[in-house]
Amino acid sequence: MVLAGALLAVVHMAIPSATVSDALYLASTVFFGVALLISATIHKPDRRIWPVVLVVALCSVAGQVAGNNTAPNESMRAVSELLFFATQLALVIGLLVVVKRRGTHEVSSVLGDSVIVAIGVWLTVWISLLQPSLDVTGETSTVTILRGMTTGASAVVVLLLAYLLFADAVRTPAVTLLSAAIGLSLLGDLLYAINTSGHVEIAQHFAYAPYVMCYFVGAAAFMHPSISQLTDHGTIRSSHNLLGRLVVTTSALVVPVIFLSVTNPESTSDRVVRTISIAVLATTVMFRVVQAVRSNAASQAALVRTAKTDALTGLPNRPLVIEYLAEALQSAWKSSRRPTVLFIDVDRFKAINDSLGHATGDDVLMSVASRLRNAVPDRAIVGRIAGDEFVVLDSGTHSVADAMMLADHVLNAFKEPLAVDQGDVFVSASIGVAVASKGQMITPDELLRNADTAMYRAKHAGRNCVALFDESMLERVTQRLAVETALYRALEREELELFHQPIIDITLGDVVGFEALMRWEREDGTMVSPAEFIPIAEETGTIVPIGAWALLEALSHLRGWIDDGVCSKDATMSVNVSPKQLHDPNFFAIVNEALMRSRVRADQLWLEVTESVMITEPEIALASLTKLSEIGVRVAIDDFGTGYSSLSLLQKFPIHRIKIDRSFVSGVADDSSARSLARTILAMSSSLGMDTVAEGVESLRQLQTLSALGCAKAQGFLISHPVPVHAMRATIAALNDISNWPQIRR
Ligand code: C2E
Ligand code: MG
Ligand code: MG
Repeated sequence: MVLAGALLAVVHMAIPSATVSDALYLASTVFFGVALLISATIHKPDRRIWPVVLVVALCSVAGQVAGNNTAPNESMRAVSELLFFATQLALVIGLLVVVKRRGTHEVSSVLGDSVIVAIGVWLTVWISLLQPSLDVTGETSTVTILRGMTTGASAVVVLLLAYLLFADAVRTPAVTLLSAAIGLSLLGDLLYAINTSGHVEIAQHFAYAPYVMCYFVGAAAFMHPSISQLTDHGTIRSSHNLLGRLVVTTSALVVPVIFLSVTNPESTSDRVVRTISIAVLATTVMFRVVQAVRSNAASQAALVRTAKTDALTGLPNRPLVIEYLAEALQSAWKSSRRPTVLFIDVDRFKAINDSLGHATGDDVLMSVASRLRNAVPDRAIVGRIAGDEFVVLDSGTHSVADAMMLADHVLNAFKEPLAVDQGDVFVSASIGVAVASKGQMITPDELLRNADTAMYRAKHAGRNCVALFDESMLERVTQRLAVETALYRALEREELELFHQPIIDITLGDVVGFEALMRWEREDGTMVSPAEFIPIAEETGTIVPIGAWALLEALSHLRGWIDDGVCSKDATMSVNVSPKQLHDPNFFAIVNEALMRSRVRADQLWLEVTESVMITEPEIALASLTKLSEIGVRVAIDDFGTGYSSLSLLQKFPIHRIKIDRSFVSGVADDSSARSLARTILAMSSSLGMDTVAEGVESLRQLQTLSALGCAKAQGFLISHPVPVHAMRATIAALNDISNWPQIRR
């Protein structure tokens, strides 16, 4: 359409015939009318713009017709000018609606620039066109006044157009096209004004060409789908066309100044108009400069503020907290004050986020922030340093007692539920307390880290409590960190080894299986107990590769013993498996590969899991264990009776063996209640058709009692300590030599 408009405009300019001109003009207005009708039915732009569009279209056409009258008389010219004025006025109203609705973030600066542009245009038009036409044409004052008003209105149109284009909302194609159409109509008006000024004569076929094109571009604007969002609040532009804006604004300043300098005022009234206009222009520029400097300073300040505060809660962030902390430590140096840092971590915040959604999670964090603010004295600083981690800094405390009192106060602030949109939420917090000690230099980072360490202690102590930092915590943390780092390399450095503990059939006294137990001998020769490193391996995820290694290693050992005739060919191997391994999607493949490579039957492998697998994310563990039991691998519940599994879960999981925990076994011979418990466990497993193994059997009496209670199998120091692979032949031989097994049966 834009191309067609340009083409027709060229045709219009090429043929200097009034008839052709009138025909083309008529055709383009009809075309525009049709486009409006189509747009109204298809794109349905905001209804508010229709009156404006109709007034603009009708008045401009009518004005053109009236002005084009072959024998123009004064009243006809006045009517024509009046219609043009109405057109500009309607344009002003329409643009005002659009501009106001689309909105902008920096209204004042855009408005300032637009006012400069409008005054610049007005001044230029006045000096170059309007003022001269007053003398030359000798028109009646009515027409001149009307034309002056039209020019003023046009200047406002230019202003609003500039505003629309400078504003920071994204320019849609409809906005661009519409602005181009209005620009073309203003160009037409300019040519018309030049004609009437009497300076130069511009032939009609040139003067009307912009109008012809204007209707086509206007039609294109209304036919574009984006017209339906003309009055919507636009998306904010990511990059601002600052250069374009600067060029337009400075041109609006420079051009009138050039005109002013090359022309002399024609009359007193001209001088007055020029003076007033230039005064207004100068004032606007002054305001605009002041405003620009101010907004620059404000945005710089805002930048610094956002860099140091947390966007969600408005609290100081980590760098700012550190700054405050440094100040507090410095000023406390010579006084009796001992600044306190509370490190507050919201308990199970991830669960809140996961179950209630991130929006609610944000609400919770904001409520926590205001709770904390209200719970601490005014002099204290509350900061948020990470997701759900808050810090309270009180530089006014004098002792550890003060600090603990503050911490208790903060902990109590969580007693009441937090009100969020979805309802009330109960949250608790773990609080670590660190107090700067007197006369000892400590950096802000160290004090914060100490509070963090204490917070971890509070978490481990069961959450919802306060822990005070002491140096030993740091040692433990350092030690743990060292273990963690060394554990990463343990596998590749071949520092891990499997020991095995035989499992015997109580009735027969035969070794029927083994449990593989991991040992870690560190570089320096120290032995680390699995009770110490397995939890770390589980936490860090290293258990997955280590566990895979253990599976293959244990089954290979069994293969070797069977092949060497150390044990029976049906002996089984029990391997401990942690929940992390069961949650690993490759676990099934790992087990399968280990079975294949060691050529051990699936039913010779026992996987020992603890009750905890049935509690945290039981679905994944269930799926994993079910798949394995389908190929014949069997599952044992380790340390049975120490966890919190429910009987219903026990039934749901594919479990083939229960291992009675050492804590029950140790009392079984002398303590009647331990005996009853063991009896109950044995009765339950037998009715569920499960195998039973007693763990940690250390005395003959324990073994005899267990045998009497009907326990099938046993393992423990009485039978054998866990031994290295090469010692198994001797261990089993020694076991076979023990002649007193039959005693047990009695
Ligand atoms: P667990 O599976 O319950 O293993 C039995 C633990 O009891 C072993 O401790 C064993 O040495 C010890 N024990 C055996 N008989 C007696 C006894 O008569 N008296 C006493 N007091 N203790 C006895 P260990 O080897 O220190 O292993 C501790 C735990 O570490 C194991 O408990 C198991 O949960 C875990 N663990 C060991 N190896 C692995 C492994 O390869 N993978 C995984 N995930 N965990 C392992
Ligand atoms: Mg075990
Ligand atoms: Mg056990």
